[in-house]
Amino acid sequence: MQALMFTEIKKQQLVDIPIPIIDRPDGVLLKVKSVGVCGSDLHGYTGQTGRRIPPLIMGHEATGEVVAAGDAVKGLPLGSRVAVQPVEFCGVCPQCLAGRRNVCENRRLMGMNAPGAYAEYVAWPADNLFPLPENLSYENGALTEPLAVAVHAVSLAPIRPYDTALIVGAGPIGLLTLAVLKLTGVSLIAVSDASDARLELARAVGAEVTINPTRQNPRQVVNEFTNGSGVDLAFEAVGLSATAQQSLEVTRNKGTVIWIGNNQRMIEIDMQAVVTRELAVIGSYGMTGEDFQRSLRMLADGCIPTEQLINRRATLSEGPALFDQLLTSPETIKCVINFA
Ligand SMILES: [Zn+2]
Ligand SMILES: [Zn+2]
Repeated sequence: MQALMFTEIKKQQLVDIPIPIIDRPDGVLLKVKSVGVCGSDLHGYTGQTGRRIPPLIMGHEATGEVVAAGDAVKGLPLGSRVAVQPVEFCGVCPQCLAGRRNVCENRRLMGMNAPGAYAEYVAWPADNLFPLPENLSYENGALTEPLAVAVHAVSLAPIRPYDTALIVGAGPIGLLTLAVLKLTGVSLIAVSDASDARLELARAVGAEVTINPTRQNPRQVVNEFTNGSGVDLAFEAVGLSATAQQSLEVTRNKGTVIWIGNNQRMIEIDMQAVVTRELAVIGSYGMTGEDFQRSLRMLADGCIPTEQLINRRATLSEGPALFDQLLTSPETIKCVINFA
C-alpha cells in the first residue's frame, strides 16, 4: 500500500509498504477513506512538540471502511463505514476502571504510538471504531475526532446560563470549540487570533467579538463587554506562553481557564494571577467515548458548519509537499486527505 512516511524532521515521503496485518482478535483493518491533517501532526513534523518521532506514519482523524476483522469482532460487518476514535485505552488501569479513559495510564494514540492513517490501510481495535451515521459522509466524518476534543473541553467547563467566554486561537480546535459553545447557554463568545482571515471565519461560525492581539489589547476589549471584570470562561487552543498568558489575563477573578493547546512543553505564565485571583486552570486532553458519540450526532444533525471548516482537500500523493504549504497558510482551517 501507499503511505506517507514521516522520515525525518520536516520531511515526509511516499513509500510502498505491506498492508498492516491484524495481530489481535479484536483488531480491524480499515481501508482509509478520509483523514484530516491535525495541527498536532504539523507541529510534530516541524519537531516543535517532540511528541512524534520519525520514522512514523502520522494521521489520526480518520474514517474508513471495514475490510477485515479479527475473530472476536462483533457488530462491524465487512463494508461498515466507521470513524476512528484514535486514543486506545488499556481498560485495566485505575483511570480506565474509574471511567476516566481519556487519561488512561497506558494509552496509545494512532499516528503517534502506532502507525497512523496517512496510508491506504490502517489497523485499529474494534472498541475504538464508531459506525458513521448514514447521512454523514466520510469527509465530514473526519471532523468527528477534533470535534470530540472540543466537546470534551467544553464539557469540563462549569458553564452557567449567560456566561461570557473567550477562545484564544481560531484554528480547527478553537473554531470547533466555538461551534460547540454556541450550542450551550453562553451569551457572548469572543475569539482572538493573530490571523485576520481566521477571525473572519470565527465571525462566520458565530463569534460576537473578534480580537487580533497584534493590534488590540485582549483584556481591554474584554473589559468593554464585561464591565471591566473579565470573561467567566477562557479556552486556550494554541499552546504557547503568550496565548496561555492571554487566557489568564482575560478571565474574571475566580473564573475558569481551560487549556486544550498542546504545543510548547514549558511555558512562562503569571502564577501570581492564578493564585491571587483564584483562577481554576483545567487541562483538557482527548475525549471519552461519549464525547465521540455526541460529536457524531452533532455532525449528523448538521449542527457543525463543516463546509466552512473543511476548506482544503488533498490526495495522499500531494503529501510530501502538503505540510509545508499548510504551515504557511493560516487561512486553511481543516485540510482533509481523501482516498478514492
Ligand atoms: Zn487531531
Ligand atoms: Zn487504562
